[in-house]
Amino acid sequence: MTKRIVIIGGGFAGLNVARHIRSKAYTITLVDRNNYIFFPPLLYQVATGFLEPSNICYPYRKMLRKKTRCPI
Ligand SMILES: Cc1cc2nc3c(=O)[nH]c(=O)nc-3n(C[C@H](O)[C@H](O)[C@H](O)COP(=O)(O)OP(=O)(O)OC[C@H]3O[C@@H](n4cnc5c(N)ncnc54)[C@H](O)[C@@H]3O)c2cc1C
Repeated sequence: MTKRIVIIGGGFAGLNVARHIRSKAYTITLVDRNNYIFFPPLLYQVATGFLEPSNICYPYRKMLRKKTRCPI
């Protein structure tokens, strides 16, 4: 039986943990209030109109497509 790891928050830390656990001994559940990760270091570029918000946001379902079965 596989063990389940629940990661609360898919920011820098949570997403990296999810991506680096390679063992099939674990089922990973990633929980975040958003369905996308965004990249805070480039927030000022969005605030000043140099980048679109979509340039610094990326959906988890695409990021983790090969890794997990995603319900969304
Ligand atoms: C404007 C800005 C610029 C930055 N620039 C740099 C930089 O140049 N270099 C650098 O090293 N660091 C930078 N940082 C800091 C860096 O972004 C943080 O150190 C890093 O994101 C912290 O990672 P984390 O995983 O702890 O938290 P976060 O990346 O903030 O992730 C937290 C996650 O938890 C989720 N969450 C929060 N509350 C809940 C809830 N109640 N339920 C479900 N999910 C929840 C959030 O949606 C988020 O996805 C910057 C930060 C900001 C704001």
